[in-house]
Amino acid sequence: MTDKTADAASPATWSPETLLVHGGTLRSPFGETSEAVFLTQSFVYDTAEQAEARFKDEDPGFIYSRFSNPTVSMFEERMRLLEGAEAARATATGMAAVTAALLCFLKAGDHIVAARAMFGSCLYVAQELCPRFGIECTLVDGRDTEAWKHATRPNTRAFFFETPANPTLDLVDIAAVSKIAHANGALVVVDNVFATPLLQKPLKLGADVVVYSATKHIDGQGRCLGGVVLCSQKFLKDYLHTFLRQTGPALSPFNAWVLLKGLETLPLRVRAQCETAAKIADHLAGQKGIKRVLFCGREDYPQRALAERQMSGSGTLVTFELDGGKAEAFRFMNVLKLIRISNNLGDAKSLITHPATTTHQRLKPEARAELGISDAMLRLSVGLEAYADLAADIDRALAASRIA
Ligand SMILES: *Cc1c(COP(=O)(O)O)cnc(C)c1O
Repeated sequence: MTDKTADAASPATWSPETLLVHGGTLRSPFGETSEAVFLTQSFVYDTAEQAEARFKDEDPGFIYSRFSNPTVSMFEERMRLLEGAEAARATATGMAAVTAALLCFLKAGDHIVAARAMFGSCLYVAQELCPRFGIECTLVDGRDTEAWKHATRPNTRAFFFETPANPTLDLVDIAAVSKIAHANGALVVVDNVFATPLLQKPLKLGADVVVYSATKHIDGQGRCLGGVVLCSQKFLKDYLHTFLRQTGPALSPFNAWVLLKGLETLPLRVRAQCETAAKIADHLAGQKGIKRVLFCGREDYPQRALAERQMSGSGTLVTFELDGGKAEAFRFMNVLKLIRISNNLGDAKSLITHPATTTHQRLKPEARAELGISDAMLRLSVGLEAYADLAADIDRALAASRIA
């Protein structure tokens, strides 16, 4: 952010830390310090003429909270500024954002290409839901840029992937894959949850649409669900605006308020969590009983060069494999005291997941093997606790996992 001249009066020049505290704030006539929660379904008009003008889009005010709401608008504007996007729209969950981002513009007869390594529900949308409506889907190994090219057909309209991907942290080369998509007239939709809006900027790398589950780092304190789609004005106008307005996956104003407050501390939390995650990854890597550690910031990470190229930080997740199988993984988890067993991530509390029996249990064993998800694999979302306490918790669990 040093290339811009700071100007307190111009949000476009603010650093992320500043715009996450002030960006998008709308103050009511009461002059409240903290953003207000506008818990209202609809809005009243001074005159019939004003109501008519609002419905004709000639008066910019609010109409109905399925379309827009002041608290939700503040959250959207803050996210828009952070992402550097032309437009942002909030949704009730991350999955609502993913579904809307794809279904708002795809139609029967279209084809999409998606990465095989993906959050389970995203895979469902691409692989099961889309085909039910005549949208064909080809899954590829997202790490293999050539595979995206080979999967492309004349009717391919979208590439969809997350990077880093859950839980193996596989990366997709956003710039290279976007070039392939654009050469074919397809749009690139990136689920940027694992990287957070701070560590990776898919739009700058060539992507067209970015989606988040705000449930993760953006709330970051385990309270509410939310999602957001970031895109161009044209994508909003041509597809997304009407789809959201008419199908109604709207974010509740209360949840928007919680998420706004989450954004204020996002840089502090993500920075601290990344630092602790790096220490935990190194701590794990040196230990007896650990077969493999996957962390984007480590020298031995298989896609290290790409991580350095397209991410400005290594993320808050550490995936590792123990020697052994499910029994060792379960013993490890069951001994932990501070790190809690949960499928969520990005939280202030450190959370551990056994993907093979939870998030990825729906997959056949061969499909899991293809994704590199073994029975001894664990995904750790590093929280805000002190490193020393987490390391001590891990050491006890490792000792227990080794006792047959
Ligand atoms: C959690 C998550 C989602 C879904 O978000 P919800 O808010 O739970 O609907 C989508 N993609 C990724 C990568 C996620 O981690």
